[in-house]
Amino acid sequence: MYNEDEYLMLSGLQHFMFCRRQWALIHIEQQWEDNYRTVDGQIMHRNVHDETFHEKRGDVIITRAMAVSSSELGLSGECDVVEFHKDSKGVEIFGFDGNYSVTPIEYKRGSPKETLTDAVQLAAQAMCLEEMLCCNIPFGYLFYGETRRRRIIDLDAELRQQVKKAAEEMHELYRRSYTPKVRRSRSCNACSLKNICLPSLYNNKSAEDYVRKMLRGE
Ligand code: SF4
Repeated sequence: MYNEDEYLMLSGLQHFMFCRRQWALIHIEQQWEDNYRTVDGQIMHRNVHDETFHEKRGDVIITRAMAVSSSELGLSGECDVVEFHKDSKGVEIFGFDGNYSVTPIEYKRGSPKETLTDAVQLAAQAMCLEEMLCCNIPFGYLFYGETRRRRIIDLDAELRQQVKKAAEEMHELYRRSYTPKVRRSRSCNACSLKNICLPSLYNNKSAEDYVRKMLRGE
């Protein structure tokens, strides 16, 4: 169990799953560099978050930018959209009649990825909602800007375990204030921090070697 002052940003999970070093540069060292991907993503999220806080459409309540947190995971953040569908097996929602099932929806630019990065972030949101509302959330959706479609995500035990493991590792690195070393991968090409991270520098044997080579004009 974590205290509120220990909570880390839930949205950091996507950075952490993409690259641990990227997460540490942003969330431990507070470095940031806007590029097309991050700016575009922010605009899309702003559009989701700018609308009315919640609305009711028939038996469905739609809530935007709902604040969520989990003392078990030590994470806090926002859900882009949470839908509450009238369901006799669901939970009571303050201010509304009846019971409702709970479904988080996370908006992403681009198209569905092969990695579990987006699914892990969605699962973390669901786990926060479960802790806050004392409910079970078996699935959620990822909505992609390019395809303009929702993709259903089964929030199974394996995915939940990935969330727990990532949250634990994030807290451990944060506590030690440790930024992992560069591990070059295909992710580096699409990384918004590649100019800060300087993966080509770390490709050399050491920083000292690099500087020596630079001085020799190699
Ligand atoms: S450039 Fe590569 S190693 Fe560096 S933060 Fe980005 S993904 Fe991670």
